[in-house]
Amino acid sequence: MSDEQELGITESKQYNTGEWYAEVVQKAGLANYGPEGMSGFIVTRPRGYALWESIQNYLDGEFKKTGVQNAYFPLFIPESYLEREKDIVEGFDPEVAWVTHGGHEELEERLAVRPTSESIIAPYMARWVRSHRDLPLRVNQWASVVRWEATETKPFFRTKEFLWQEGHTAHETRDGAWDETMTRLSQYQSLYEDVLAIPVLRGAKPEHDKFPGADTTTTVEALMPDGKSVQAGTSHYLGTSFAEAFDLTYTTEDEDEEPAHTTSWGLSWRSLGALIMTHSDDQGLVLPPTIAPEQVVIVPIWQADTQEKVLEYAEDIAEDLEDAGVRVELDARDERNPGFKFNEWELKGVPVRFEIGPNEVDDEVVTVVHRPDGESVELDRENIAEAVQEQFDEVYAKLYAAAEENLEENVREASARNEILGTIGQHGGYVKAPWCGDEACEEEIKDQIAAEIVMVPLNDEDAEIHDGEDCAVCGDDAEETAYFAKSY
Ligand SMILES: [Zn+2]
Repeated sequence: MSDEQELGITESKQYNTGEWYAEVVQKAGLANYGPEGMSGFIVTRPRGYALWESIQNYLDGEFKKTGVQNAYFPLFIPESYLEREKDIVEGFDPEVAWVTHGGHEELEERLAVRPTSESIIAPYMARWVRSHRDLPLRVNQWASVVRWEATETKPFFRTKEFLWQEGHTAHETRDGAWDETMTRLSQYQSLYEDVLAIPVLRGAKPEHDKFPGADTTTTVEALMPDGKSVQAGTSHYLGTSFAEAFDLTYTTEDEDEEPAHTTSWGLSWRSLGALIMTHSDDQGLVLPPTIAPEQVVIVPIWQADTQEKVLEYAEDIAEDLEDAGVRVELDARDERNPGFKFNEWELKGVPVRFEIGPNEVDDEVVTVVHRPDGESVELDRENIAEAVQEQFDEVYAKLYAAAEENLEENVREASARNEILGTIGQHGGYVKAPWCGDEACEEEIKDQIAAEIVMVPLNDEDAEIHDGEDCAVCGDDAEETAYFAKSY
C-alpha cells in the first residue's frame, strides 16, 4: 500500500497517542521508517526536512548574531580520544556504534561513530587557542550523531541516528562560560516559544542526570498533551574538566597557563517531534504559520460557467500574497473536488485556507479558514496581503494559548511519596516536590510509575528552598524542589 492510498487519520490523539502520532508523521508525508533490519532509523521526507530547515535557519541566524561560527568535524572518533575524558566513555559506552574494519582490513584502533563530539572538537580547539586573545572561541556543527539505544522507534523522538546541532565554546572564566550556557538556553527557549508556539520550563538536570563530565546541565522542558515531558534542548557548562583532559589551555595576560572553561549545547530534531505532538489533531498535522512550508492554501470552488473568473481572481490573489513574501499554494487541480482538497491540506497542516467561489469574486472578498479550530472569517480582497498577517498572528496565538493552558494546568505540588505517585498516575504532567537530592529517592518513584526528576530549579532566585521541609520520598531534610514527570 502506498503512503497516500488511505488519506485520513484513523487513530485518536486522546486515546491512542502513540499510534496516532506515528500515523500523522507518515500520512502528512514527514517521514518513513527505515529499511527492515535497521530499526531505529527513519527516512526524512521533503516535507519533514523542510520543517527541520526552518528550525535550522532560525537557530543558525541567532547563533551567528551572537558570535558563533559553523565548522565540521569527522563522523568518526578514535577510541583513544573518547577515552581521554573518562566520564564521556562511561556515559556513552553502552550506546556507541563502532567501526572495526575498513574494507577487508581490520583497523588498528576502532573508531566510534560520534555519539557527541566533545572529544574530537576539544583537542582541535586546543590547537587553535594560544592566549587569552583567542578567547572566547565558539564553533557549532550541524550534523547527525548515533546512539545505539535498543528502544522502540518513534520518529523524531527516538531514533538511533538523529539530526542536531552541537555548539562548543571555550572561555577565559567561569562567568564567561556560564553566560554562554544561559545565552544558548535562552535561544532554545525562544525557538520553542516564538517559532514553534510551545511554552517551556527552564531548569537544570539533577546531579546524577547531568551530561557526562559536565559541571551543570541546563534544560528546557516541554509538556506534551499526553502528560509527558520532552527534554527539548540542553546547554552544558562543562567547567574545566574537558579542557584539562584535552589540554585546552591559554596564557593569561600575566603569562600564566590556565585551562579554559568550556560549554556545549545541543538541540535535535526532537523539537520536530514536540511540534507535531503538541498542535496536531485527529485531522492530521497542525503547524504554526511561522514554520509551515505553505502558510496559505487557496482552494478555488467553481462550476463550468464560473471556472474562468474564479481562477483568474484566485491567481491574482496568490500573486499578491507571493509578492508580499507569503508562502502560498494555489490548488487549481481539476481532477479533485474542493472537499478532497480541504481534507488533504488539513492533513498536511497548512495553517490558513482561502476559499474562493463565484460569490467571493462578486463581493470582492475572501473566505479565510483557520486550520486549528475551523473558525472562518471574510476579508476584503483589497489589502489581503496585509490582512493575512493578522490571521497568522491569531492562529499562532490560538496554538500557543492551548499549549500554555495545558502546561499551566499540569504543574502540581506534592509533599508525600504516595501523593507524587497518585498525582502523576492520575493526571500526568509535572509534580513539584521537596527532595533530599539522593538519586535513590528518584529510583523509588521510577520503579513504581516510570516517572523521573526531569529538572530542578536553575538558580537560587527560582529555587524554592524548602526550609525545614522534608524530602517527599524519604523524609530526610529537603535540599531542593524536584520536578517529577514521565518523559519521552
Ligand atoms: Zn529523599
